[in-house]
Amino acid sequence: MSRAPLQATENLPNRPIPAEAAKPGEKPNPYGPNFPKGGPQNKWTLQDFDIGRPLGKGKFGNVYLAREKASKYIVALKVLFKSQLQKAQVEHQLRREIEIQSHLRHPNILRLFGYFYDETRIYLILEFAPRGEMYKSLQKQPKQRFDEPRSSKYIRQMADALRDIKPENLLLDMKGELKIADFGWSVHAPTSKRATMCGTLDYLPPEMIEGQTHDDKVDLWSLGVLTYEFLVGKPPFEAGDNNETYRRITKVDLKFPPHVSDGAKDIISQLLMKDPAKRITLDKCLEHPWILEHNAPAKK
Ligand code: AMP
Repeated sequence: MSRAPLQATENLPNRPIPAEAAKPGEKPNPYGPNFPKGGPQNKWTLQDFDIGRPLGKGKFGNVYLAREKASKYIVALKVLFKSQLQKAQVEHQLRREIEIQSHLRHPNILRLFGYFYDETRIYLILEFAPRGEMYKSLQKQPKQRFDEPRSSKYIRQMADALRDIKPENLLLDMKGELKIADFGWSVHAPTSKRATMCGTLDYLPPEMIEGQTHDDKVDLWSLGVLTYEFLVGKPPFEAGDNNETYRRITKVDLKFPPHVSDGAKDIISQLLMKDPAKRITLDKCLEHPWILEHNAPAKK
């Protein structure tokens, strides 16, 4: 399968624009001369967008509601300051995340339609998520937790998205060694805010804490922590300080409040196995009774 290079970001889904006559010897462009946009000769610029209200503030810049002028398509425009990215030495990481995210096509993975930059900023053209952050939604619930059907639905979607990101999520490093990109969790896990801002480590698996080699099985652990947090309202190994959290994670000190069903306890316990090889796989997760019980049969 051919993959677009990083420079050739894609066109936004746009309304049909009437085909215009091509110059002699040129291939007619069915979208007209301004589309598809995002290639080396035809780059997006800030002038292509009307900017609306701020949607949120991130570590490296702000996110705004925006509308692409030609198509009237609504997007979220993430504005990152180059100076801040350089200072934190995350330019490589950003490049990698752009490369991965722009190739992913999954209903539960936020689309990155394209990017552009000017002297001081980098702009990411993102799918707009009208209902905003999962964490805020969790906090707004009567008991700051989701019920079992809702948690089960989200976990099925997470398991499905994680399963789907495989080939695009594998990168090659300078020496040609395979690299699993941990795309996804840092952005979407509900505690990402706390993790980055207060330095809590609730989603880290034991093998990472103990400094052992780790692979994509870390995602299974994180999925278990996420399931628990959805149902209980806080992560399973939360503690007063980092040392205690470490201790509880490495001992898998897992306790459930009485309202958690047996099915949910079973899937969580199978995801939170200390030995990564013993963790339930994503495929098996999607077939787990707690997932089947609360979700309509899969469309696939
Ligand atoms: P971030 O820099 O990704 O942490 O984004 C900062 C905040 O902007 C997030 O916490 C969200 O509240 C909001 N936000 C980011 N991306 C989107 C989006 N695609 N749709 C809606 N809101 C978003």
